[in-house]
Amino acid sequence: MEKMNAVVKSQRQSGAQITKVNPPRIKESEVLIEVQAASICGTDIHIWDWNEWAEHRMKRIPIIFGHEVAGKVVEIGKNVTKVQVGDRVSAETHIVDNTCYQCRTDRKHVCKNMEILGVDRDGVFAEQFALPEENVWKNDPQIDPGIASIQEPLGNAVQAILPKEHVEDIAGKNVAVLGAGPIGLMAIAVLRELGAAQVFATAGGLNKVRMDLAESMGADMVLSAKEEGDKLVKTIVDATEGNGVDVALEMSGDPNALRQAFKILTPGGRVSLLGIFENAVELDLNDAMVFRSATVYGITGRRIFETWYQVRGLLAKPSFMEKIGAVITHRIPIRDIDKGVNLIKSKQAAKVVLEPKW
Ligand SMILES: [Zn+2]
Ligand SMILES: [Zn+2]
Repeated sequence: MEKMNAVVKSQRQSGAQITKVNPPRIKESEVLIEVQAASICGTDIHIWDWNEWAEHRMKRIPIIFGHEVAGKVVEIGKNVTKVQVGDRVSAETHIVDNTCYQCRTDRKHVCKNMEILGVDRDGVFAEQFALPEENVWKNDPQIDPGIASIQEPLGNAVQAILPKEHVEDIAGKNVAVLGAGPIGLMAIAVLRELGAAQVFATAGGLNKVRMDLAESMGADMVLSAKEEGDKLVKTIVDATEGNGVDVALEMSGDPNALRQAFKILTPGGRVSLLGIFENAVELDLNDAMVFRSATVYGITGRRIFETWYQVRGLLAKPSFMEKIGAVITHRIPIRDIDKGVNLIKSKQAAKVVLEPKW
């Protein structure tokens, strides 16, 4: 291939360009992957909009962004031994150095020298991309590339629910998911699969698409913070015999939802924090955590590769796969990526999958 199409961020301002670029040249330990499906993540929206986070975080411009992907291996480097041309694959998007303190102490997902696909190096909104062999995740060739591309955020949902080995139980427990974005929605489906007793879902606004999806993912009660206001906490606490939930997953990045997550938490319960807050948040720590004896997990990325195996295990069940597929509300040609971005920003979409139609 002489030149390939790619979505390139070439200026430190909003928007992006679809343009022809040189295809990637792989290193000896890398593989070249032809993109079959890519999905749009919140991170991509930040990069598209070029918000403060992007201005601060993005070092390399121009860059091809995008990181959630499924594709086919078309070339392998000469030191690659476990991946073959033709393999259907997805990408663990966190490229670690394997040598820092975190990597050497079984915490690769917080590697100090981590490079992220589509953030620190060229990503997947292109016809092809390069990936280190050790970041390749082999897919069942039968799996729909759209669904295969959302395994990465599904992994985030699983990581929020099961952040480590021997974590507190989910089976038979009451759980709340605060935030009905794609990862929140997928978390509801995972919780159902793991045998949660009651699953409560909260959404900030009154978004019909996402609230309906929360219900179809299996939430017992879907509450709009906008509609419920202060009653929201009482509604959930009352529905759990006055006890509150055992587990709360904060997936919205909304300070109010964060405070609610602790108010609805039964003393001794646990919270996972996945949502990203725009600013520093005020929280009464005495009430929220100390006297509540709360366990709090910060969630970033996925455990490499435990979470991927858990995702594979979940997707092996056809009914779960079908349910998760419903989170993909739109499949559009990648040349219309601007439409996809707008669908997400206007919250008409949950997950948008881009097909390689240039
Ligand atoms: Zn992502
Ligand atoms: Zn490291």
